[in-house]
Amino acid sequence: MRVIFSPRHRLHATETVTIHGEAYAETPPRAERLLAAAQAAGLGPVTEPADHGLGPILAVHPADYVAFLRDGYPAGLPFRHAGPLVMADTFHTRHARRRPRHPWSQQGYYSFDIQAPLLAGTWEAAYWSAQCALTAADAVRAGAASAYALCRPPGHHALADQAGGFCYLNNAALAARHLQAGAAAARVAILDVDYHHGNGTQEIFYTDPSVLYVSLHGDPDEEYPFWWGGADEQGAGAGQGYNLNLPLPKGTDDARYLAALDRALAAIAAFQPAWLVLSLGLDIGAGDPSALGGGFAVTAAGFGQIGQRIAGLGRPTVIVQEGGYRLETLGENAAAVLRAFTG
Ligand SMILES: [Zn+2]
Repeated sequence: MRVIFSPRHRLHATETVTIHGEAYAETPPRAERLLAAAQAAGLGPVTEPADHGLGPILAVHPADYVAFLRDGYPAGLPFRHAGPLVMADTFHTRHARRRPRHPWSQQGYYSFDIQAPLLAGTWEAAYWSAQCALTAADAVRAGAASAYALCRPPGHHALADQAGGFCYLNNAALAARHLQAGAAAARVAILDVDYHHGNGTQEIFYTDPSVLYVSLHGDPDEEYPFWWGGADEQGAGAGQGYNLNLPLPKGTDDARYLAALDRALAAIAAFQPAWLVLSLGLDIGAGDPSALGGGFAVTAAGFGQIGQRIAGLGRPTVIVQEGGYRLETLGENAAAVLRAFTG
């Protein structure tokens, strides 16, 4: 299985970033662990992404938002923290009456939380992370059974025009639209197994019946991203019925997770997609530090089962790396899923 990886992820150098005094969880060693594990598992070749330019990115994200990501650092810097990052601390809310031009305000307009600061290299890293997803989509569109986009930063929390939750550009959405390019009627299913609901992906396709979004995740009544992820969110307009949320309680173990996954896979099989995009978050693993007060308890064996059942759909699959923050088990769990697609 081809692995698409860009060393430019390191330009999003978050190692020294803290939020509320806590170390930022989405750091460069994550991607390095994942790469090492993929190579140790015999996956490959590992290749750098092709540069598709901004065109495919602008098919999902509006130009003003993309310009903000590109130029927001250093434009907001003089008005913010003395440190090397730009972070919002005032937000466009449902009561806002105007859209000011001050760079400080732009941060709060184009992000929905404080978990997606802009660093000097954030734009370049996010750009190449997106190119990884697009290149993996190229490979699958050209006939590969699967390809793994080792994206960093991740993408599934990014809305069309708002960053948040460590995410800037929605890599899974970009892959889905890229798969459809030239074949707009083609159906794409996105299966999101990250511990957190992929609010960005859901919202991007919420009214679109050509893309089925299915997510298993921590119940938003007790877990980030809070404002999205309920079972009652089922799409709207023409997209009604094409959004399936399966929120699960804390402590969910292999058996409970796999039972919910079978429901998700049945819905995808009924949709009969031409392609599958798998938003592969590994933070459902036991002990992941991103879960608030303890999350799921999926084991390495559980990850192997998850991989086998998804691969069992038999759909050409673009695998897009999302979250997963427990460095000790990240690589092992990723390899357990990915190996299922090579068998
Ligand atoms: Zn997550």
